Amino acid sequence: MNETFSVIARDGAARAGVLRTAHGEVPTPAFMPVGTKGTVKSVDPDELRALGAGIVLGNAYHLHFRPGEELIAELGGLHAFMGWDGPILTDSGGFQVFSLRDTLLEVDDDGVTFRSVYDGAPERFTPEIAARVQERLGSDVAMCLDICLPAGTDRSELEEAVRRTTLWAQQQRDLPRAPGQLRFAITQGGLDGELRRRSSEELVALGFDGYAIGGLSVGEHREPMFDATTEAAAFLPEEKPRYFMGIGDPEGVLEVISRGVDMFDCVLPTRTARTGSALTREGRLNLRNARFARDQRPLEEGCPCPACTRFSRAYVRHLVNQQEILGLRLLSLHNLRFLLDLVAAARRAIERGEFLSWKEEALEGAKGAM
Ligand SMILES: [Zn+2]
Repeated sequence: MNETFSVIARDGAARAGVLRTAHGEVPTPAFMPVGTKGTVKSVDPDELRALGAGIVLGNAYHLHFRPGEELIAELGGLHAFMGWDGPILTDSGGFQVFSLRDTLLEVDDDGVTFRSVYDGAPERFTPEIAARVQERLGSDVAMCLDICLPAGTDRSELEEAVRRTTLWAQQQRDLPRAPGQLRFAITQGGLDGELRRRSSEELVALGFDGYAIGGLSVGEHREPMFDATTEAAAFLPEEKPRYFMGIGDPEGVLEVISRGVDMFDCVLPTRTARTGSALTREGRLNLRNARFARDQRPLEEGCPCPACTRFSRAYVRHLVNQQEILGLRLLSLHNLRFLLDLVAAARRAIERGEFLSWKEEALEGAKGAM
């Protein structure tokens, strides 16, 4: 069993598997907490491990500008730098470049020119730079540079994005990698089935270690997005891992798993914490609400996270209202644990062959948590 990825159980289109990386194995489906700037905001690596995180995401765009991949390489690579010895996936920076649309200057067949979000200076990303940054960071999974466009983009522009995304993946494929580093390509095409098929076929023909479904969860309606995910996953090879970029609400996560997705990431658990909200089985709780002032229950009954085992809703509410750092931290720890536990439970349900009925039950309560 030395394959990079094996599927160990299937239930409908949903799969449970194992991704093997240079820094260990990742059971899938896997939720990847986002550590954009080399940290999952306010959570340290031991805490992440204890919460059940098996892989974290870093961001080539931000780390390239601050503090720079050469500095990180000099200090032993991203694992050593951030004190996390488990698997790391790094995003190529394509998503940041194309989502910060007012910083975009020019796109051509060799790369993209944009203004850095840090100091406004003109900068360029090319497949060579994306490969080099991630090679220097030493991540376990590196992503290809791609063109991700917002919902509602017209077809000719989507078609051009698909063409260039393939061209760039081709350029990046054989460039130097960190030892054992896997490389995933990203399919594009928005909600257009024909373009998604073309993108998938072209990238699969080039041959990568895994494939991401990009260009969804970019502002379209949920139902067409889920339908497009079903299609996009089916265009990808059975034996390779599939990564849906940017989904982290309880319903979304379970929907993409049911459509054959193995990995996903989102800032939602920590971003939700920063707005003072907790994810629970009964929905999202806004701790700023006065009704929690005397509530002695934990955020979620039975949750084994550091917040729920020691503190009341009333106390967390007080911390949030006073903008105490501990309030943000407790909510981040709880929200990450909630999502990681949900995905671990999904995996067990797939193994038992009961995923669909389990999912319906789980979503009954979680609907309000979207
Ligand atoms: Zn908790």
